[in-house]
Amino acid sequence: MTEHAIKYRLIKKEKHTGARLGEIITPHGTFPTPMFMPVGTQATVKTMNPEELKTLGSGIILSNTYHLWLRPGDELVAEAGGLHKFMNWDQPILTDSGGFQVYSLVQNKKNITEEGVKFKSHLDGRELFLNPEKAISIQNNLGSDIMMSFDECPPFYQPYDYVKASVERTSRWAERGLNAHRRPNDQGLFGIVQGAGFEDLRRQSASDLTSMDFAGYSIGGLAVGESHKEMNAVLDFTTPMLPEDKPRYLMGVGAPDSLIDGVIRGVDMFDCVLPTRIARNGTLMTHFGRVNIRNAKYEHDFTPLDPMCDCYTCTNYTRAYLRHLIKADETFGLRLCSYHNLHFLVNLMKDVRQAIMDDNLLEFREDFCERYGYNQPNAKDF
Ligand SMILES: [Zn+2]
Repeated sequence: MTEHAIKYRLIKKEKHTGARLGEIITPHGTFPTPMFMPVGTQATVKTMNPEELKTLGSGIILSNTYHLWLRPGDELVAEAGGLHKFMNWDQPILTDSGGFQVYSLVQNKKNITEEGVKFKSHLDGRELFLNPEKAISIQNNLGSDIMMSFDECPPFYQPYDYVKASVERTSRWAERGLNAHRRPNDQGLFGIVQGAGFEDLRRQSASDLTSMDFAGYSIGGLAVGESHKEMNAVLDFTTPMLPEDKPRYLMGVGAPDSLIDGVIRGVDMFDCVLPTRIARNGTLMTHFGRVNIRNAKYEHDFTPLDPMCDCYTCTNYTRAYLRHLIKADETFGLRLCSYHNLHFLVNLMKDVRQAIMDDNLLEFREDFCERYGYNQPNAKDF
């Protein structure tokens, strides 16, 4: 067994569910889990500066390998002294493998071969090639604390045979990635469990990857078109296949009920662009459900956005003011709304950790979902 750069410490398991309270120790600090990680696609969490991000208390952010590889280039980031120095962020960073973006750009399945994936750049249309070794080399140059293996992430509804072949290739790619990893002493590499909705393929994937001794395990291939119920079902059988002494990361999930349901099933880490993307459009998550701040009914509403929220936005500004800023397309409005949504999810995880401590996570879920409006007919996903 290797001594990994990333360590997981289990503090307590909840009595009635699979939820676990813990912490993840990285070369750039320790953060508590379960945790929601803000996404900084282009080496910046849109509109937020690092000092503001630190006040959220997430302790870790995510950045995107594909985007940084294309622009400004991973070699330039290495020349700057690594991603932490380049973006002035001294806390942990997780990078994805680039796979998820690449698959959305592949024009033909024939371009996915054993060697790697051929696709066209979203910036200028030029032809690019990414494979497991290259994905690791880029992340070694970026210097993130937590790196992801290059995997194939097919949509949820695919024929069994296709998913089986894809899972097998993902395992071979995971091994190639491990062999290419140049900085195991200060960067931890995670394997990604695939297998769509097929229990035996998830088992095969988990078994292949856990035999390779990664620093942690991600659950991929979810939040790609399946229902909330199907996601929960996959988590129900997948998380018990993963080792107890390593972190578990559910990729690309950010709806509040999905976060709570993931924690209940033993997930430690989550990320999603959802909170910042919808914020810039004036859609806000509050303890009483979603608010579209552009709505006319907020024109004369001089109350805080979310009276149960103690973030900078809710403490200092009114719904009427936020509505005005968003309608006028003011940068400050984008900042205030992004800050609130990120605070909402990071703080939700803080409340969830307390509920694990108190062994009342199921009651917490019930109360939260009732207030949020999930139990009403026609409730939306976030
Ligand atoms: Zn707030």
